[in-house]
Amino acid sequence: MTEMLDVANVDDFAGKLHGTVTRPDDADYDEARALYNAMIDKRPALIARCADVDDVVAAVNFGRENGLDIAIRCGGHNGPGLGSVDNGLVIDLSGLKEISVDPEARTVTIGGGCLFAEVDAATHEHGMATPGGIISTTGAGGLILGGGVGHLTRKCGLSIDNILGAQVVLADGSVVNANESENDDLYWALRGGGGNFGVVTSLTMRLHPISTVFCGPMFWPLERSADVLGWYRDFIVNAPEDLNGFFAFASVPPAPPFPEELHLQKVAGVVWCWTGPEDKADDALAEARSQPGLLMDGTHPAPLPALQSAFDPVYPPGDQWYWRADFVETIPDEAVEKHAEFAAQMPTWKCTMHLYPIDGAPHNLGPTETPWGYRNANWAAVFAGVDPDPANVDKIGAWSREYHEALHPFSAGGAYVNMMMEEGQDRVEASYGENYERLTKIKAKYDPDNLFHVNQNIKPAG
Ligand SMILES: Cc1cc2nc3c(=O)[nH]c(=O)nc-3n(C[C@H](O)[C@H](O)[C@H](O)COP(=O)(O)OP(=O)(O)OC[C@H]3O[C@@H](n4cnc5c(N)ncnc54)[C@H](O)[C@@H]3O)c2cc1C
Repeated sequence: MTEMLDVANVDDFAGKLHGTVTRPDDADYDEARALYNAMIDKRPALIARCADVDDVVAAVNFGRENGLDIAIRCGGHNGPGLGSVDNGLVIDLSGLKEISVDPEARTVTIGGGCLFAEVDAATHEHGMATPGGIISTTGAGGLILGGGVGHLTRKCGLSIDNILGAQVVLADGSVVNANESENDDLYWALRGGGGNFGVVTSLTMRLHPISTVFCGPMFWPLERSADVLGWYRDFIVNAPEDLNGFFAFASVPPAPPFPEELHLQKVAGVVWCWTGPEDKADDALAEARSQPGLLMDGTHPAPLPALQSAFDPVYPPGDQWYWRADFVETIPDEAVEKHAEFAAQMPTWKCTMHLYPIDGAPHNLGPTETPWGYRNANWAAVFAGVDPDPANVDKIGAWSREYHEALHPFSAGGAYVNMMMEEGQDRVEASYGENYERLTKIKAKYDPDNLFHVNQNIKPAG
C-alpha cells in the first residue's frame, strides 16, 4: 500500500491534523509503533496521533480514500497486536483523553484513547468506579468494547454491561451517537463487537459506588493445585456477588510485598475483591482461609485503583506474550487434573493461567441482549505464556497452546475475543455464537466494505 501513497497527499493530511502524523523515517517512529506485546513487530505506513474527533474523521477519510488498511489503537495491549497494521494507517487515539464524571447521574464519559488507570483515577475521586480489568495500563477502549472482565465483574457485570452510550466515527466519516434511543442496533453491536463498527471517540459508562475494597491474593503450594481448584470451582459460583475472586496458577513475583521465601515459587492462588461492608470481609473469606496449606494471605483493605494496578509492575510493556482462551461452564474433576498437570509445567515465571468468574451480575442479561453470547458460562479462562526474553517465545507459546488444546474439550466452545490471538474466522464466529449473524447484518449496514477489518473480524453480511 505504501507505494501508492502520494507524499503531497500525506503532507496535506498531516498539515490539517491537530495531532501529528508519524512516518517510518521519523525519529519517533519506533516509539510510536511499539506495542505492549513485544512479540508483535508491525511497521505501519503512517501513525495518525489524533487530538480530537475532527482528526479521527480526517484519518478515517484519508485511510478509506487511499485504500489503506486501518488499525484503531487505544492502549496497544491487544495480544495479537490488532492495534497496529503493517503498511497501513494506525489511528492512534491516545490523544483522546477527556474524562468527565457526573456524580449525580453516576456516569463517566471517557475519551476513546483513555487507559484504565486514568479512568479509575477520575472516578475514584468521586468514590465510584466502572468495571475494568486487572492491569491498569490496558486501554479502556479495547478492553471495554470487547467485553471487559475484572475485579468487579460478579458485582457490576462486564464492562459492556455498563456502556450507556458511545460516540462513533463510522467508515464513511460521519459521526453518530449510539445509545438506547439513537442507532440502537449499533449500540447493541458495540457492546462486545470491539472495533468492528467504527472508531469510538467516547464512551459513557455507568458508575458504581465502590471506593475501598477488601482485596488481595491468597496462595497455596502447587502440590495442592487440584484440591484448591476443586474447592474454588464449587465455592465461587455460590459466593455472594460482592465477592469476586479469580483463580490463578502463577509464580510469586520476586519483589515486595511478597515474602522473600516465596519469591518465584509456583503456586495456586485466588485474587480476591470484596465489595461488601468491610466488617463482613472476614466472614466472606473464612472458607478460603481454612483451605489447608495456605502459604500467604495478602488480603487487606485498599482503594480500588490500588488493586486495579497491583500487578502492573509484574507485567510491564515489552514482554513476549502468547495466549489462548476459552469460555468455561463447568470444570469436571478430569479437567481439574489436567489443569494441575499443566500448572506444574509452567515454563517461565511470568506464565500464568487465570479463570475469571463471569457468573453473578453478567448472568442477569440474556445471551442475545449483547453480542457476548456466553451468559451461561461461569469463567473466562486464559492460558498466558509470558516472558521478557525473546529466546523463550517457542517455549511459552507451546505451553499455552498445549494447555489450551488439553482443556478445550471441557470448554463451552468460544472464547473471550480480547484474550485470543489471531486464530481464524471459525474461532471468531464461535466466540459470538448465536449473535454472530446479527452482528454481520449490523456490520453490513455501518461498514459494508469492511474498512475496519484489523480486529477479531465480523464480516459484513451479503
Ligand atoms: C497485560 C494484559 C492484561 C489484560 N487484562 C485484562 C483484564 O483484566 N480484563 C479484560 O477484559 N481484558 C484484559 N486484557 C485484554 C484486553 O482487553 C485486550 O488486550 C484489549 O484489546 C486491549 O485494549 P487496548 O485498547 O489496550 O488495545 P489496542 O491494541 O489499542 O486495541 C485493540 C483493538 O481494540 C479496538 N479498539 C480499541 N480502542 C478502540 C476505540 N476507541 N474504538 C474502536 N475500537 C477500538 C480495535 O479493534 C483494536 O484493534 C489484558 C491484556 C493484557 C495485555
